[in-house]
Amino acid sequence: MSDKKVAVVTGASRGIGKAIALELARNGALVIINYNGSVEKAEQVRSLIEDEGGEAVIEQCNVADYEACEEFFRTVIKRYGKIDILVNNAGITKDDLVMRMSKDDFAQVIDVNLKGTFNCIRQVSRQMLKQRSGRIINLASVVGISGNAGQANYAASKAGVIGLTKSVAKELASRGITANAVAPGFIETDMTEALSESVKEHTAEMIPMKTFGRPEDVAKAVAFLASDEAGYITGQVLCIDGGMAM
Ligand code: NAP
Repeated sequence: MSDKKVAVVTGASRGIGKAIALELARNGALVIINYNGSVEKAEQVRSLIEDEGGEAVIEQCNVADYEACEEFFRTVIKRYGKIDILVNNAGITKDDLVMRMSKDDFAQVIDVNLKGTFNCIRQVSRQMLKQRSGRIINLASVVGISGNAGQANYAASKAGVIGLTKSVAKELASRGITANAVAPGFIETDMTEALSESVKEHTAEMIPMKTFGRPEDVAKAVAFLASDEAGYITGQVLCIDGGMAM
C-alpha cells in the first residue's frame, strides 16, 4: 500500500483536471491521471509531475462507460490498496439552443458529466466506507445553478452533479467521507477557447472581476477540499467564478 495519499483525477490530460493533478501531486499525493483520448497530453502531465519530484501514473478510461469504470477502479484498488481522493473532473459540452439540440447531444453530455460522476463515485464508495475516510470532489458549474441559454444539456448535467454531491455527502458523512462540489465560472481552457471573441468579451463584462479564471484558481480550491484541513466541510458547492453567481 502506498504511503502517499492516492488521488484519482478524471479528465486530467488537459485544462482544469491537469491543474488539479499537478496541485495534488505538489501536496504529496500519488496521482492517477485519467484520460479518455489524449494519451500524449496525459503523458506530458505525468512528466511535469515527475519533473517536480512527484509521483503519477496515467490510466485510460471513458467515465461514461460503467463497466470500464468498474475495471479501472478495481485495478487502482488492487495496485495501491486504497483511494483517498476522487476528483470527478471529466466533462464535455455540446451547446445548442434546446429547439435545435439533438437527443444524442443531450444524452452524451448527461452520460459523461452526470453518469460519469455517478459511475466513479459508485466504484470508490465501498472502498472509502471500508477505509472510513475519503474525499470526493465533483466539478459542477455556475450554470448548474443559474442555467444558461444554449447549454440546457450541460446545465442539467451540472445541476444533477450538485444534487448527486449533496446526496452522497449525506450517505457517507457518518463514516468520515466528505463530498463537495466546486462550481467554476468561466475558466481559460480548451472548453472556453471554443467561444467566439465577442461572446468572450460579453461574458467577461458580466463577471464582477471582469476576467476569466485560470485552471490553477480551481485547482487550489479542490486541493483544499481534498486536504485534512477540510475534514468538517461536506455537501457544499463552492463557486470559483470571480463573483459571477452571487
Ligand atoms: P477541457 O479542457 O475540455 O478538458 C476536458 C477533460 O475531460 C479532458 O482531459 C478530457 O480527456 C476529459 N474527458 C472528456 N470526456 C471524457 C470521458 N468520457 N472520460 C474521461 N475523460 C474525459 O475541460 P475543462 O475546461 O478543463 O473542464 C474540466 C471540468 O470543469 C469539466 O467538468 C467542466 O464541465 C468543468 N467546468 C469548466 C469550466 C470552464 O470554464 N472551463 C467552467 C465550469 C465547469 P481527453 O482529452 O483525454 O478526452
